[in-house]
Amino acid sequence: MSQAGTAASPRGGDVPAGADVVVVGAGITGAAVAHHLARRGASVVVFEQSGQPGAGATGRSGGMVRAYDPDPAIAELALPSLAAYRDPGRWASGRAPLHAVGAVTVADPAREPALREAAGRINGALRASAHVVAGRAEAAGVRLAGGVALVEPEAGWVAPTEVTADWLEQAGADGAAVHCGVRVRAVEARDGRPAVVTDAGVIRAGAVVAAAGPWAADPAPGLRPASPVRSRSIQVSIVERRPPAPSHATFVDLRTGLYAKPVGSDRTLIGMPHLVWDSPFDARPDPAHARATVSALTAHFPWLTTAPHLSTVRGADAYGPPGGGGPASGLLEGTGVPHVWSVRGWNGGGVKTAPEAGRRIADAVLADACSDVA
Ligand SMILES: Cc1cc2nc3c(=O)[nH]c(=O)nc-3n(C[C@H](O)[C@H](O)[C@H](O)COP(=O)(O)OP(=O)(O)OC[C@H]3O[C@@H](n4cnc5c(N)ncnc54)[C@H](O)[C@@H]3O)c2cc1C
Repeated sequence: MSQAGTAASPRGGDVPAGADVVVVGAGITGAAVAHHLARRGASVVVFEQSGQPGAGATGRSGGMVRAYDPDPAIAELALPSLAAYRDPGRWASGRAPLHAVGAVTVADPAREPALREAAGRINGALRASAHVVAGRAEAAGVRLAGGVALVEPEAGWVAPTEVTADWLEQAGADGAAVHCGVRVRAVEARDGRPAVVTDAGVIRAGAVVAAAGPWAADPAPGLRPASPVRSRSIQVSIVERRPPAPSHATFVDLRTGLYAKPVGSDRTLIGMPHLVWDSPFDARPDPAHARATVSALTAHFPWLTTAPHLSTVRGADAYGPPGGGGPASGLLEGTGVPHVWSVRGWNGGGVKTAPEAGRRIADAVLADACSDVA
């Protein structure tokens, strides 16, 4: 591995001449990948176009995490990721970032056998107490509206920007350099390896990982993944939760896509799929959708009918099929430029998979970065 660019670097500063791996984007995905790469001894340089990490989808995210997902490929990432979020030993802060308020996944009653099987798998792996609630009106402060529920008492939410900052701190301690306010403009092949053209100069890399989030839909030249990626709007609102409204777990209804999480002791974040495609990342909040979200969620939280609305935040995430054919099968896509990889779109769920996805991507990219020049 090359030693260029391994010096611990403050954010910003001069761009080094070379690195084993360049990571484009300092959202939660790029931070996870950078952390795992640096921990394995690679020289890593991260470029973030914004003035600070976590300025994209990560900074607007509700951060709900749970082990269960109806997609087995996502569940396989989410389960070890929840274990990482629970483990204080994995964090520079010395504190586990997980707020274990519980997670309730509501589904059609026909899914009860699958939920029971999932509960058994989760409990076996995590020594947890996941269980299925059927034939009841309510679980953990959430009305089930005719559904059955998988309750994961050990799941909940994390603060995505704190997680991102912690991983970048660990990466920096392991020698990575994080350059904020530096945009990657293009990536080109030169002598069989990537040359990364940035606002602040050109850097040669053994491999490049683009973790550009919704910007992957319209990427810098050389970073376009083989499969199409689109940006899709995600909008959430914060409402006040006044007594006698009960406290509640995080919640998602697989039948409708409705979701919610508690924010502190007296607020709740609510959301509903916002099917606006190719939405600019900074599009204004949609008040009609905010009203429709409250209305739809009263089936699960009747107290919402009188809850004061506090704020609405809109962002976007990258949506697309799982990548195929590259290293870390399903997580990375080739871009047509040798040794340049794009991380798959997370379809609105990148926080709950980031710890394990980052680990697997780092393993695959490190092998590629250190391979003989083709
Ligand atoms: C409102 C909202 C709520 C959400 N709630 C949840 C939830 O509860 N649970 C969950 O699991 N997921 C949730 N998500 C989804 C989750 O937040 C995302 O999947 C995840 O944050 C994506 O992280 P990322 O690092 O891939 O992308 P981002 O966080 O968008 O990071 C990409 C970074 O790349 C940078 N970048 C892009 N192009 C360039 C370039 N050319 N040069 C340099 N830098 C560049 C961007 O500035 C950005 O900082 C939510 C998302 C939103 C918007």
